[in-house]
Amino acid sequence: MKLTVLGAGTMVPEKGYSPSAYLLEAGEKKMLLDCGWLSLSALTALGISANDISEVFITHFHTDHFGGLMPLIHARFVAELVYGEKSAPLRVYGPSGITQKMRQLKDIFWPEEDQSYDYGIHEGPGKWTLDGVRAVSFKVEHTRWSPSVGYRIEHGGAAVAYTGDSAPKQDRKFIGNLKGADLLIMEAAAATEEAGSHITAKRAVEWAIEAKAAKLLLSHTGKISRALAEEAAASAAFPVLVAKDLETLTINE
Ligand SMILES: [Zn+2]
Repeated sequence: MKLTVLGAGTMVPEKGYSPSAYLLEAGEKKMLLDCGWLSLSALTALGISANDISEVFITHFHTDHFGGLMPLIHARFVAELVYGEKSAPLRVYGPSGITQKMRQLKDIFWPEEDQSYDYGIHEGPGKWTLDGVRAVSFKVEHTRWSPSVGYRIEHGGAAVAYTGDSAPKQDRKFIGNLKGADLLIMEAAAATEEAGSHITAKRAVEWAIEAKAAKLLLSHTGKISRALAEEAAASAAFPVLVAKDLETLTINE
């Protein structure tokens, strides 16, 4: 598998650090882990069309993770309508309530009642097998205002786990979903954990060690937390990287 960081930043974009999104390629398949509101621009800059994406895995409903999904779907609809471009079927995965949220977004941003785009939508936690890719979504605590899930994606014997945004307190099963991941992607948005809805790089490293992950990618860093992530990466006894937009990582299968 190959991972390209499309958005290594937070809700507040900076040069090189866009809101959350990752392109995960497994064989011929192109999937998105989260779809922040600059995702379509990032894909376009890489020469990848919205039509090329076959799965989108959404962790929760904040715009820095979810805001790019309706634009991506609307772009696919217009590409077909105006240019006759056909795309592979699209499957969307998200936490419970995503079907209703997509309906609400359609009403707001795309009010034409006679137009629609057909895509599959799957609410998690759950498990799916998709053309040789195994996808598991699991519950993650983040904020009481939005249900959140993380994902474990396996292909060719390799596993990538992505937790999205996360509170310092998680349930007993949380670490089990990350066990032995070849690549673990975790947020490190917090400089302190007082707010209770994000974690520090230090905690992400501790959880990665507990899960025995082979490599940790610290992401979703901001102007203050990035230096702490870099410190944590430099002092870790296993491979820890700090994400930046458009970096790629290969996950050996
Ligand atoms: Zn976020």
